[in-house]
Amino acid sequence: MIYFMKRDDKIFELIEKEHQRQLNGIELIASENFVSEQVMEAMGSYMTNKYAEGYPGARYYGGCEVVDQSESLAIERLCKIYDAEYANVQPHSGAQANMAVLMTVLNPGDKFLGLDLSHGGHLSHGSPVNSSGLLYEPIAYGVKEDTGLVDYEMMEAQAREHKPKLIIGGASAYSREWDYARMRRLADEIGAILMIDMAHPAGLIAAGLLDNPVKHAHIVTSTTHKTLRGPRGGIILMGKDFDNPWGKTTPKGVIRKMSSLLNSAVFPGVQGGPLEHVIAAKAVSFLEALQPEYIEYQTQVQKNAKTMAEAFIARGYKVISGGTDNHSMLIDLRTKFPELTGKVAENTLVKADITINKNMVPFDSRSPFQTSGIRVGTAALSTRGLKEEHMAPIVDLIDQVLSDVESETTLNEVKTKVNEMMSKFPLFAF
Ligand code: PLP
Repeated sequence: MIYFMKRDDKIFELIEKEHQRQLNGIELIASENFVSEQVMEAMGSYMTNKYAEGYPGARYYGGCEVVDQSESLAIERLCKIYDAEYANVQPHSGAQANMAVLMTVLNPGDKFLGLDLSHGGHLSHGSPVNSSGLLYEPIAYGVKEDTGLVDYEMMEAQAREHKPKLIIGGASAYSREWDYARMRRLADEIGAILMIDMAHPAGLIAAGLLDNPVKHAHIVTSTTHKTLRGPRGGIILMGKDFDNPWGKTTPKGVIRKMSSLLNSAVFPGVQGGPLEHVIAAKAVSFLEALQPEYIEYQTQVQKNAKTMAEAFIARGYKVISGGTDNHSMLIDLRTKFPELTGKVAENTLVKADITINKNMVPFDSRSPFQTSGIRVGTAALSTRGLKEEHMAPIVDLIDQVLSDVESETTLNEVKTKVNEMMSKFPLFAF
């Protein structure tokens, strides 16, 4: 008997609705982007049917000859982009990549140092509700109140006092370049491992526009779906330290290499079978990142962000640290609208088809559910082909909404302008 399963119209209608939402709106969420058709094609491919526990050439399932090749290509391309010696492309997400590193480097209860969540750090860098904060003992450094820049003196003082086994750099809401060399000197001084989570600026780093942490850190992690512009997922990289023998010994007394321990931490440590369809899509996006047009794209992301930060400042907004070196910026709403919370700003802007996210600002007087700030980024808009000349008009639209959050008329007027503006741009223009 042949069964013809009914097409799932409900879900496909919702997918089309989401497509239209993305097409019609101004996307300013700093962690989002639009992938190319070929990245989506690889993700929705036959590779989804394959189980492949293990690594290329050493799997626990038969029939892996083809996925071995595609995973190996992903690794090879990724190493080429960042000049790395080792890469693991299996983490299902950035948080899982970080979890695998912590599991490799720390024992439960060990101390590590990371950027305070309320100063721009990520949940997986020591938040009490994440496994990083539940299983280990996080110590935080922050940014300076007057400049909004990472307080390296505080980081050094904390490291010398607490002697953490791991120092984490990188953030979810920090718009400036990092001093990776200084952090590595500190790690070496106290005998710690330095891990940099480059999830946000990974694309700008790939294009050579920001310093490459793989040159400095023992271990680098990232997501693949933010500025890098690949499918949703995580990666782990290492440069010259990949071959270092690790202090931990196996039950048989063998000291293992860092790379081998990291692989074991990803699988079978925190994950089961890899998502080979996503890994194939990662490989496609890595090839895109090796093309000359990619540098053009990332240069535009950076130019758009600078122009947008200037436009916010010109309209009386406080941009933390006074500007941006990357794709993102954090805006403290209190200087212009003392009563307006990030939550209300986010909820109101979305009604005008402008998506941003509420965000704590350093030394925030409000809770993470309300916040005094918003975070914006230009990676997604730049993929659609928007240039510097579009940034000030967008800031004007945001300013109109935030200046009058109660007005339905303003909201409707802005929404019409947003939809009209975005109708001229495809989702993927590069
Ligand atoms: N690391 C940083 C710095 C991030 O900003 C994020 C996500 O926003 C992650 C890790 C986690 O990535 P994922 O959501 O893929 O787990």
